[in-house]
Amino acid sequence: MDTDGGAVQVHGSGAAEAQPPAQALQRLSELVRRVNSSTDTAQVLEEVVNGVHEELGYGVVAISQLEGDVLVMVAVAGPDDVRRQILGRRTPAVSILDEYRAADHWGILRYVPHGRMAPDQIEFAWIPDIDASEDPDAWHPEDALYAPLYSATGKLLGNMSVDLPRGMRLPGQAERDLLEMFMVQAGLALSNAQQRERLAQQVRLGAIVKEVAQAGSRVGLDAVLGIATEAINRGFGAVQTWVRCHPDGDRGREVSAGHPRPSLVSTVIGTLNDDLAHAAWPARRLVWIHVDDTECDLLPASRVRLQQAIAAGGAAHAVVAPVGVGLELFGYLVIGFRDDQPAPGSDELDTISEVSRELGRMIQSARLFETEHRLVSELRELDRYKGELIATISHELKTPLTTIIGHVELLEERQGEQVEEGGSVAAIRRSADRLDRLIQNLLDYARVQERREFVRRDIHLVELAEAAIELMTSQAEAGGVRMVLDVLRSEVVVRGDAEELSTVLNNLVSNAVKYTRPGGRVAIEIDSVEAWGRVTVKDTGIGISQIDRSHLFSAFHRSSNPEALSIPGTGLGLAISRRIAESHGGKIDVESTLGQGSTFTLLLPRTAPEAP
Ligand code: ADP
Repeated sequence: MDTDGGAVQVHGSGAAEAQPPAQALQRLSELVRRVNSSTDTAQVLEEVVNGVHEELGYGVVAISQLEGDVLVMVAVAGPDDVRRQILGRRTPAVSILDEYRAADHWGILRYVPHGRMAPDQIEFAWIPDIDASEDPDAWHPEDALYAPLYSATGKLLGNMSVDLPRGMRLPGQAERDLLEMFMVQAGLALSNAQQRERLAQQVRLGAIVKEVAQAGSRVGLDAVLGIATEAINRGFGAVQTWVRCHPDGDRGREVSAGHPRPSLVSTVIGTLNDDLAHAAWPARRLVWIHVDDTECDLLPASRVRLQQAIAAGGAAHAVVAPVGVGLELFGYLVIGFRDDQPAPGSDELDTISEVSRELGRMIQSARLFETEHRLVSELRELDRYKGELIATISHELKTPLTTIIGHVELLEERQGEQVEEGGSVAAIRRSADRLDRLIQNLLDYARVQERREFVRRDIHLVELAEAAIELMTSQAEAGGVRMVLDVLRSEVVVRGDAEELSTVLNNLVSNAVKYTRPGGRVAIEIDSVEAWGRVTVKDTGIGISQIDRSHLFSAFHRSSNPEALSIPGTGLGLAISRRIAESHGGKIDVESTLGQGSTFTLLLPRTAPEAP
């Protein structure tokens, strides 16, 4: 009897007569070739059922394929009316699994003799309309013979069944062996198809992760999330994808992005974050939700609002993935699917997890980038303010100091020869001069901090060095220091601002004289190295410790060496000098040994020699 109620009259197929096994083997070997070479699974399955029908003489041969938890009949060989009836038929996989348990094992074949099957199992079976025979070797209409088709990893992929054997007798061993071989080919065909599909899916899923990760190179969180959600939506063939997050933490701003550009994201689902924070996020779990669910992992309030949002976007079910990094949850990703789309499988869920982790990393780096950006502008602003403050105060100090110096000069003139070395006028004069140098240094420092345009002229380094030496001659003589100029190359010309570059040279020479004990020596050497003009100021002075050298060019830094500290200075000269050198495309470096002396090297780009 047939479960659909229609009586089916089955006539033996045209293969009722015994075929020579050689022909069946020939057919099998063709089939093996097809299975290994063809990518058209439906065609291969068709050839398997026809092969068994025609070569082994079974009246009905059928293959069903597992789709979710249902077996769908995809290939049938046999009379047309039977084919029409059972092609496309859907059977719950559990019922066939029950049958396997009741079956005798004939190698990979499963044989369930009539009478063993429970009545509710027979409900799904196709029963031919033939009379039962008394002969124990005869085929009974309620007998079942089939083989489960497994993947290489042992997953059920489908089922192949035969009915109405040749001569209506139970197959003997040789025939079963042959049948097994055909069934193995059906299993291989399904297994190959599954592997191809998985491979294609892995490529597709890998492409989504890659595309999302590439979105991270964009600047600005909105742009990043916009591109990422679009890639996810397209990659999963979803109807809606959106991300809602608080990149700055609980009370921080909110960023939403989605595809299609959603009004639905504005359907605020604030409670969802708290929900996810408690359950899904600590376990890094994804939540699958259907619009009809009355229960899920979420609290009712957020579940209902989420269902409304999903439905508003045209989806029937969705996956919600928490998005965050470490212990911190930033928000969540929602991917919505149509009713006719299956719930995502484990590979797809793994990819969604990976994508949500990627989004977490992107949000974190966008946040770091924004913080860094803000800090840099704050520091710039602070620096600008500092420069302005120094310049303003120095200017304000300069005016009264000029008056003081003017009046001291008047007093000196009046007292003439009577100005005492240790007297008050001389003391005022010394202090005023020192203050004047400090203010001049501060003004220079404030000036070189700004980006400036200056007139560049050709400058001969030898001339600059000679001027610096001349300026320091009296001081050097007073301190018992000998100065020598060593011109290794006379025509060393650089382009720059003469006044600024002489400030640099004066500073270096003045320091060398200042920090060298009586009897010492300062050598200034002019040379050129490749494209550089080089000035070396070498002294036999007190030297600079390694730790002091590392801060030497910072503003207001003075050596910790007490001997250096006993010599008046502001700690600005080298900071100003390096700044000027750099604004001319050059650099200053120092080498020194404490107690033995220092060598400062100034490099400036030489002007290209003129063509003859
Ligand atoms: P100033 O000399 O006005 O203090 P500088 O910026 O020119 O400021 O120098 C910073 C510090 O570097 C000095 O205070 C001094 O301790 C050290 N220094 C600079 N040049 C030399 C040198 N030729 N020998 C030893 N110490 C030096």
